[in-house]
Amino acid sequence: MSHPKDHSHQHDGEHDHDHDHEHDHAPIESPQEPTGTLRYLEQALRELLNEKGIITAAQIAQQIDLQDSRTPALGSKVVARAWTNAEFKQALLANPLEAINETFGLTITTPLELVVLENKPNLHNMVVCTLCSCYPRMLLGIPPAWYKSTDYRSRVVVEPRAVLREFGTQVPITTEVRVADSTADVRYLVLPLRPAGTEGFTEDQLAALVTRDTMIGTALPQFEQA
Ligand code: FE
Repeated sequence: MSHPKDHSHQHDGEHDHDHDHEHDHAPIESPQEPTGTLRYLEQALRELLNEKGIITAAQIAQQIDLQDSRTPALGSKVVARAWTNAEFKQALLANPLEAINETFGLTITTPLELVVLENKPNLHNMVVCTLCSCYPRMLLGIPPAWYKSTDYRSRVVVEPRAVLREFGTQVPITTEVRVADSTADVRYLVLPLRPAGTEGFTEDQLAALVTRDTMIGTALPQFEQA
């Protein structure tokens, strides 16, 4: 990796407050809610920041609402646009956030760098954060529980193809599988391949094929030709 892992981990503006209990991938173990010391630490820090007037309870609530309002739908729209508009795709790969903000009339601001990894017929990309749970929240919302599990984080870098198989994802043996490890200030989004047989599809129809997991790289967009 070009970016060395940095242990002063910075998340995009928000402490983890995940309540996502999806267990759609049985073999990937989900982490527990914080308990004991961690829970007290979070509470103590929150109350201290509050008391010192650094951050208000309302600001915390607002930030939680913002995080909760983000869903993979934006990522899906971005991918569908890249599939149908070559000019946008070039801009997206060159300067992702600027291209997304301009094209979709958004004002996403973050100190983080967003990198879009383009899948090719002979290259499949997957995303992980081996240290914790860094994730392109600005485009995908809150990460699924399995993404934060020790199981996924430790195994995907060692045996990516075995992990893909557990997700029911078949990548041809001739296709290189590359795993991008998120860092303190870089987030990755996978640009999956557009499935064959979708030539006449509208952007909305295409976006519907782009699930969260296809943008993490653990799934491929599914389309059964009639
Ligand atoms: Fe992380």
